[in-house]
Order: sequence, then C-alpha cells, then structure tokens
Amino acid sequence: MQILDGKELAKEIRQELAAEVEKRAAMGKRAPHLAAVLVGDDPASQVYVRNKVRSCEKVGFRSTLIRKGADTTEAELLGIVQQLNADETVDGFIVQLPLPGHINEERVTLAIDPRKDVDGFHPANFGRMAQGLPCYLPATPAGVMEMLRRYEIETSGKEVVVLGRSNIVGTPMSILLSRKGSPGNATVTLCHSRTQDLAAHTRRADILVAAIGIPEFVKADMVKDGVVVIDVGINRVDAPGTEKGYRLCGDVDFESVGSKASWITPVPGGVGQLTVVSLLINTLKAANGEVFA
Ligand code: NAD
Repeated sequence: MQILDGKELAKEIRQELAAEVEKRAAMGKRAPHLAAVLVGDDPASQVYVRNKVRSCEKVGFRSTLIRKGADTTEAELLGIVQQLNADETVDGFIVQLPLPGHINEERVTLAIDPRKDVDGFHPANFGRMAQGLPCYLPATPAGVMEMLRRYEIETSGKEVVVLGRSNIVGTPMSILLSRKGSPGNATVTLCHSRTQDLAAHTRRADILVAAIGIPEFVKADMVKDGVVVIDVGINRVDAPGTEKGYRLCGDVDFESVGSKASWITPVPGGVGQLTVVSLLINTLKAANGEVFA
C-alpha cells in the first residue's frame, strides 16, 4: 500500500502558487485577492474559512473575510454578493455553505457572478464543466483530479466507482472522470443511497472514490486487491480519553482497506489538503482572467 500524500502535494502546489504571485509582482500586477463570506457561527464552517484565509496568506494572496451574524437577512447577504461582484479589487469570492435555514442557498449561489465563482457552484460553471469548457472546477473534485494527475494514476479505461452524488463532490467527480482527458476516460459508476447491492459495484472498482459522509463505511470485503482508494469523507467520531474527545476519519476503513489497496488517501492529510489549494488555483485563474476571457 502506498499513500497518496495530500499534505506533501499541497505544499508543492503552494510553492508553485507563491512563485506565480512573485512573477505577477515582477510584472507590476497585484496579488490575487480572495474574499470569503461567513454567515452565522457554525463551528465547522469557521474552521474551513479560517483555513482558506490562512492558505491565502501562505502563498502571498490577499484575502478578505466578511463575517456576518446568524440573523443576517437574505437581502443583506445578496447585497454583499452584489458588492463583491462589482468590486474590481476582488478576483474571486466564496459564500461559505451551509447558510442559516432562513436564507435560500440557491438564490445566493445564483447571485454570484460566474466570473468570480471560484467555488464553481454556479450552474454556469457546472454546465461548462459538464461540457468540458474552461470553468472553475469545484474545489474538492479539482483536488482529486490534481492528485491523480500528479501521482500519475492511470484512469483511462479503468472502472471507477464513485460513492455519493452530491453536487459538490460525487456528481462532478463522476463527470470529470468520465470526460475525455487525462485524468479521465474512465468507465464510471455513480452509487448513492438508493443503489442496490453496493458491494457488488465497489468490488469491481479499479479506483474507488468515497464521498458519502459515513465513518469507515467501506470495509475490506467491499474492494478488490490493488484498488486505488480516494477517500473524500471527513467525519468526526467520538474518541473518549483523547485530548480532543474525538478523532477524524474518512468514509473508508483505512486499516483494513489499506491492506488491499495499491494506493490510498489518508484522512486527515489526504483530499482535504488539496481542496483549499484548488480554491487558490481558481483564484489565481480568476486574477489572470483565464477562465472567462
Ligand atoms: P452529502 O451529505 O451532500 O451527500 C452524501 C451522498 O452520499 C448522497 O448523495 C447520498 O445519496 C450518498 N449516500 C448516503 N448514504 C449512502 C449509502 N449508505 N450508500 C451509498 N451512498 C450513500 O455529501 P458531501 O457533501 O458530498 O460530503 C461527503 C463526505 O465528504 C462528507 O464526509 C464530507 O465531510 C466530506 N467532504 C470532504 C471534503 C474535503 O475537502 N475532503 C469536501 C466536501 C465534503
């Protein structure tokens, strides 16, 4: 078993991004600028946004964090989105999801100018992705693609099984891997909560991508020898007696599945590390005007 080391890869990509920032500076161009809007006080969202802002600092990007209380109205948030759309000093921005229940996430996502939608959640970007046109790829699937590319994992003609069909992970993952290209050209099966005899599918997988949000769901008897495992899940499980009282784990039972796998991503230290870096890559593309020329 070999480890697909997201931490190491993220470091490598951050160095490349920092070099790009310096190149831009030498040409008299300002640093790429990412803004993030955080509404409410969801603890996980706070951690995610903090990581995004910190990652900007690490590579020399400018970042702006706009924090709003849980009682922010939808109209107020839409006003902020409009301001960011119009602000020429901001290259790209994200509105951290989930939003408080009284705010319609779809309306907010649709209000974001697709040219600044570095999360790639706007249907204009999703549609462009599906058609293989230049777009901002959603960060987590983009990170997985980057990992497959850099580790030179062959996907062409392979059986890929994706577990989970969310708009941000499973569905785009299935589209990207089945599309023409490298990585890509795979034969993809998308499994979800209504799939019957899931293990019959997973056992056929040369590459298994798990994104369902159930701790250690995939066990050794569900995979074949030599499988490449991409574990997107990030789950908190109780760990009494430890300092934090919990531990993080993926959707795959790392110990048992790892013993059969050729390659596997650890959790933490795998896909999650690349998600933030992909957001930075999109922000650089936005600053360079590469996507919507
Ligand atoms: P989600 O909760 O939106 O969707 C879960 C999907 O899993 C659904 O499509 C559902 O049909 C499917 N599913 C649920 N139970 C199933 C079962 N028993 N068998 C087969 N399919 C089943 O999920 P999401 O937002 O895509 O997140 C999935 C996991 O990935 C979570 O653990 C999340 O924390 C993690 N995640 C990680 C990153 C990262 O940066 N690594 C980014 C986003 C999400």
